[in-house]
Amino acid sequence: MTWSILGAGSLGCLWAARLSRAGLPVRLLLRDRQRLNAYRALGGVTLIEDGRESLYPIPAETVAQGAPIQRLLLACKAYDAESAAASVAARLAPGAELILLQNGLGSQQAVSAHLPRTRCLYASSTEGAFRESDFRVVFAGHGQTWLGDEHGGPTPAWLTELEQAGIPAQWSENILERLWRKLALNCAINPLTVLHQCRNGELAGHPDEVAALCDELGQLLHACNYPAAAQELQGDVERVIAATAANFSSMYQDVAQGRRSEIAYLLGHACREGDRLHLALPRLRAVHERLRAYLVARGLPDT
Ligand code: NAP
Repeated sequence: MTWSILGAGSLGCLWAARLSRAGLPVRLLLRDRQRLNAYRALGGVTLIEDGRESLYPIPAETVAQGAPIQRLLLACKAYDAESAAASVAARLAPGAELILLQNGLGSQQAVSAHLPRTRCLYASSTEGAFRESDFRVVFAGHGQTWLGDEHGGPTPAWLTELEQAGIPAQWSENILERLWRKLALNCAINPLTVLHQCRNGELAGHPDEVAALCDELGQLLHACNYPAAAQELQGDVERVIAATAANFSSMYQDVAQGRRSEIAYLLGHACREGDRLHLALPRLRAVHERLRAYLVARGLPDT
């Protein structure tokens, strides 16, 4: 069965290149004819790994045209997920599977609500990649991807294809808990790196602020019924800050480069869930408001 990949950016190309070199059928779905022509002119996806680059001439088509889709990897940003999924909805075959690779929470539920006849699986990945230029991607950090089904159901047989392609993936019986834990780690670190304009490691100089956010995120996780995701949160946040001390967070990089951030699906989602559960969360809301003001002042979307 063909792997269709919509979102030929960092992670989409990273998955496509590895599936393709394992001999598995894969095709890229591009926005329009202009993007398709640009892709064809380059001859394929270039993946740069450990300084070596390889070109993968993966077949591509536009979202509008082609055979029915049985298995789709949606690899766009969270804020593009609904519209990107809608652009191929008519091509999804009955019983198709859709793997949602978006960070944060909220976009997955929005997409699956529109596709009741499609099995929507959620993914949480610690792999790292960035786009050097169009269809040219650097594999920047090895990691792991967890996949799971919010509604239960069997482990997909195609996990073995991911293994065959060298994509480290594991089935998770509680993918929402994993996504919440990652969201909490992200909310405790990334917004502060933007507001303090610093590398992750410099947050060690703001221990009270970090501790207050971890405390409120812990309250939120408990109220959402994910107590395991709240365990040792502050300790883990401090470990991440120390282990990635020299790095700029993804949100810091997005803002520094004038790109839209995924704030609505991270801190925004946390605050919306706080509203729903009538939690005060004053420190979290204050950081959210300061971050939104910071983005607006730089002409960037605050949602
Ligand atoms: P990215 O490099 O920006 O790639 C997103 C791609 O989606 C772009 O190529 C974009 O096309 C395409 N796209 C958006 N809307 C589309 C549409 N309607 N039709 C066709 N293509 C569309 O993003 P990414 O870094 O791979 O991130 C994807 C998700 O994975 C995010 O939620 C991110 O937080 C998460 N994630 C990323 C990493 C990482 O290291 N990169 C790690 C973990 C998680 P254009 O090029 O035409 O705009």
